[in-house]
Amino acid sequence: MTSLTVAGRRLEITRGDITRETVDAIANAANEALRGGAGVDGAIHRAAGPGLLGELRERYPHGTPTGTAAITGGHGLPARWVLHAVGPVWRGGGQGEADLLAGAYRSCLRLADEVGARSVAFPAISMGIYGYPGPEGARVAVRTVAEHLRGATAIELARFVLFSDETHGLFADALADLGSE
Ligand code: ADP
Repeated sequence: MTSLTVAGRRLEITRGDITRETVDAIANAANEALRGGAGVDGAIHRAAGPGLLGELRERYPHGTPTGTAAITGGHGLPARWVLHAVGPVWRGGGQGEADLLAGAYRSCLRLADEVGARSVAFPAISMGIYGYPGPEGARVAVRTVAEHLRGATAIELARFVLFSDETHGLFADALADLGSE
């Protein structure tokens, strides 16, 4: 585990499976329809059980746009809440991808604050099937979350839970860059 203290709050990165996290809220890398999908989305739905899809259908009949997030309960997961973030599909970087990715993280953090979550875990949003390139995606993720931790928030711990050594390495570099500023 690698970590940084930001305004007295913890920013951590670790390797692992986000469905096993015992934090208050975990984020999901969802799609606009919010009806489940592949990758981490599929893993979260499998671990949470069918109640998760039922709540999404009821509360978000039209899904949520790219760059935003929606919130549900955790159902069968150890986490109490799931923040369903919709990151951008990478289209070369000229389509507002960085702002949309930052927006997805920010929306999660705002929703987490609204419900009073103290600890939040994130996967590497957009960095799988959506193709967001590594160093830039990790940089946006780490910086956006650090910025939120510097402001008025009840969140005491934000953790990136990375599924591969490669992604973990990218986030470790981004965290080290931030820490050396
Ligand atoms: P996107 O469509 O936003 O790119 P993906 O689910 O394809 O989302 O990938 C996002 C990241 O989540 C990738 O780095 C992928 O390796 C990772 N991932 C997949 N399963 C899990 C899991 N169970 N826990 C944490 N991260 C995961």
